[in-house]
Amino acid sequence: MNNKHNTFGFSTRAIHHGYDPQDHHGALVPPIYLSATFAFPTAEYGAACFAGEASGHFYTRISNPTLALLESRMATLENGEAAVAFSSGMGAIAATFWTLLRPGDEIIVSQTLYGCTFALLHHGIGEFGIQVRHVDLTDLAALEAALSPATRMIYCETPANPNLRLIDIAAVAKLAHRQPNITLVVDNTYCTPYLQRPLELGADVVVHSATKYLSGHGDITAGIAVSSHALAQRIRLQGLKDLTGAVMSPQDASLLMRGLKTLALRMDRHCSSAQAVAEALQAHPAVQWVTYPGLRSFPQYALAKRQMKLPGGMIAFELKGGIEMGRRFMNALRLFTRAVSLGDAESLAQHPASMTHSTYTPEERAQHGISEGLVRLSVGLEDIADLLADVHQALAKCSRPSMRPAATAAHVLR
Ligand SMILES: *Cc1c(COP(=O)(O)O)cnc(C)c1O
Repeated sequence: MNNKHNTFGFSTRAIHHGYDPQDHHGALVPPIYLSATFAFPTAEYGAACFAGEASGHFYTRISNPTLALLESRMATLENGEAAVAFSSGMGAIAATFWTLLRPGDEIIVSQTLYGCTFALLHHGIGEFGIQVRHVDLTDLAALEAALSPATRMIYCETPANPNLRLIDIAAVAKLAHRQPNITLVVDNTYCTPYLQRPLELGADVVVHSATKYLSGHGDITAGIAVSSHALAQRIRLQGLKDLTGAVMSPQDASLLMRGLKTLALRMDRHCSSAQAVAEALQAHPAVQWVTYPGLRSFPQYALAKRQMKLPGGMIAFELKGGIEMGRRFMNALRLFTRAVSLGDAESLAQHPASMTHSTYTPEERAQHGISEGLVRLSVGLEDIADLLADVHQALAKCSRPSMRPAATAAHVLR
């Protein structure tokens, strides 16, 4: 692998890392190796590959040149040693859990998690003899009290989907690593390595839904895990190869590498537009509260400034009148698309309680800080004037004359 670009900046590595056109007939864009299997020069060499004594690709579920290039790029962008590519974010998360947890182990997870991660914990690994404990990881004393000799993993999202609560990764890592056999896993989907690099803050594994910002165009589902060489090798040979089989296709890896080339540009635009939309929401009398890490009213504003390069492209808010008004707002949108997922060029609006987080019961949502009226926006790459006009015309349909200015998020987030 050609790593002459290691000392370059983020975008240069996102475009060039690990690839020299002169090794590929001058092709500027890396070729897609569609082969499922790879020829052995001799029977002995094939046996050595399977014994782990020879390097080389032999079957695409385990490795493939196109996937290997993508993996090396994700590793350098996250500042990890190695990465493993998956067919979805849930593939990456499930493979990481199944590789590192065994019956009798305990996993400590943050309060608020993406709906299918919550389902995997409570209707998946939780039913196979692994103890799942939700702990408010913003409360370090609570984390310290929850740690036990059986704790093998701490898992969190920061910012959390959908309520944007943050976890101080460096502080949690410090506590976690008092015990040698605890792995700290951070879902970095909302930030991407352009905004936040958990491995630099002490995390052991970063997982991604690459379906979102990393690919950026809503045309693939994909996942990534990034870690040390040793952990990545375990996740590849157990979680990917044997336990889930959730391998990424080489075509999707090529689309994902195309997305990575513009990641920094796109994230800058997502963030500046989301800031403007969040400020517009906060100033509107129909809005009950709005949560966005770039607002001074954000309860963890100082941590956001410290931990994230920019506040991201996601907003959570609630209208006065709760979800009924939220549905009216969503149905009035003309430019924002009513759809789940996030990080696309298109701006998206969805209602977590009835969509992405309907895997929680209403009681569980209340317990985990997901308000029934919360509307989630993924601010896309359209012209900001058009986005603001759309939000304003939809809000106008939700206004009542007697409404007071919006409260800050501090009122709803404990
Ligand atoms: C979407 C998402 C996932 C799951 O990823 P898929 O690619 O849909 O499988 C995991 N975590 C977060 C934070 C997400 O937003």
